[in-house]
Amino acid sequence: MINANLAALLYLVAGVLFILALRGLSSPETSRQGNYLGIAGMAIAVLTTLFVAGPDWSGFGLIVLAVVIGGGLGAVIARRIPMTAMPQRTALSHAFGAAAAALVGISHYYSEGSHLASGSMVALGIEVMLGSLTFTGSMIAFAKLQGWLPGAPMTFKGQNVFNMLLLVGIVTATVWVIVNPAASALFYVMVGLATIFGVLFVVPIGAADMPVVIAILNSYAGLAGAATGFALDNKILVIAGTLDGASGLILSILMCKAMNRSITNVLFGAFGKPPETGADSGVKGTVRSMTADQAALLLAGSESIVVVPGYGMAVSQAQHAVKELADVLGERGIDVRYAVHPVAGRMPGHMNVLLAEAGVPYDKLYDMDQINDDFPRVDVAIVIGANDVVNPAARNNKASPIYGMPILNADKAKSVLVLKRSMAPGFAGIENELFYMPNCMMVFGDAKKTISEFSSAVKAAAKAA
Ligand code: NAP
Repeated sequence: MINANLAALLYLVAGVLFILALRGLSSPETSRQGNYLGIAGMAIAVLTTLFVAGPDWSGFGLIVLAVVIGGGLGAVIARRIPMTAMPQRTALSHAFGAAAAALVGISHYYSEGSHLASGSMVALGIEVMLGSLTFTGSMIAFAKLQGWLPGAPMTFKGQNVFNMLLLVGIVTATVWVIVNPAASALFYVMVGLATIFGVLFVVPIGAADMPVVIAILNSYAGLAGAATGFALDNKILVIAGTLDGASGLILSILMCKAMNRSITNVLFGAFGKPPETGADSGVKGTVRSMTADQAALLLAGSESIVVVPGYGMAVSQAQHAVKELADVLGERGIDVRYAVHPVAGRMPGHMNVLLAEAGVPYDKLYDMDQINDDFPRVDVAIVIGANDVVNPAARNNKASPIYGMPILNADKAKSVLVLKRSMAPGFAGIENELFYMPNCMMVFGDAKKTISEFSSAVKAAAKAA
């Protein structure tokens, strides 16, 4: 058993480790270390909570059982889940975290009920309200990303007004229960309304915007955790929940900035709806394509190449082949850099994680702002399974749903090779005028296979020379 002073000190150490973990996670070079620091902080927090609670060991068996089941499931999910399904996995974790906060709050209310002081009721009310709506909202986000629900926004007339009225009802019920903790029927009505609100809040948002929604739900789950900390008088839960809440909010703001959208537009704009009937994408022209061997000759004769990775690179798991191609080209004295768009792929940092896994040096990775002005001097931009993040419609087509989103200027390179399997659109569901530009050549096929063919052809050309 540990006394209160030692527990407070250990919680402080855990809190500092959490802050250092967040700092580490902000850069690919230090993210692994950040993860370890976070794990250490969480281990200290959990063990301290467990031992400060003693000497009552009556529930210890149940706790061990929960850890074994939860930890086992977590390990299986972490091992099995493909990198491409990371966003929905994150949504699922938020759903579980929020459900835990809501259930702890409900059981606390059930056991203490009308004896709770108003101060505790404030924390408990917020905890249960946010926990309930975050649980269902995250489950809907998961279902949309997993393809179990349609990705397009599901809307009905007057939806925003209805949602607002529902929210007003939830807040009124919560305030009423805080003032009259004995009003138990209203407490459970509030839980029900918040659960419905979570569903209605997320269904009108298109799957393309789900990562922002997930970041916002992450912040709600964090705040629910912090409120749980106040309700249970557990300081580390307050610290961890607040850090989680703040970082989720900051992430959602950064993502909106990268897409040049406001949070209100993401939450209430029903983005990703199919265009109204008869809408003309305005994309016209001829598509040129090349074989991998022809494209390899173009690469072999270049001095400067920029790789633009996108979601398709993740799908085909082409990152190792890309690194190998860069090495082969590097041996011929060709400069190969990587341009990483902040929302390329399906989650923040998606491309960085894959390229780091393949051993691409960090100093070869360039952010959009660092590299965009260089494109006119680049001999070949290789667009690998990217689509929306290089669509010039974002710059010049005001009717486009992605208009205003900053893009990588791949179209400004002297030549552009686009590696994808077909002319199918990307996540936003719109045509890409880049594919019709005179400096652009499509190389159709699975990205990994095409890149491997590039490497073999460049090697063969080097041998022949
Ligand atoms: P994208 O616009 O979704 O395009 C991906 C392209 O990859 C598709 O056009 C597809 O064409 C191609 N592809 C798929 N499998 C392939 C394979 N095996 N080999 C070769 N190509 C393949 O991707 P993006 O340019 O990375 O843009 C990301 C989009 O997702 C943006 O709209 C962004 O707002 C959104 N988003 C971003 C995040 C985030 O946080 N990063 C999260 C969710 C959504 P084919 O089918 O013809 O092969």
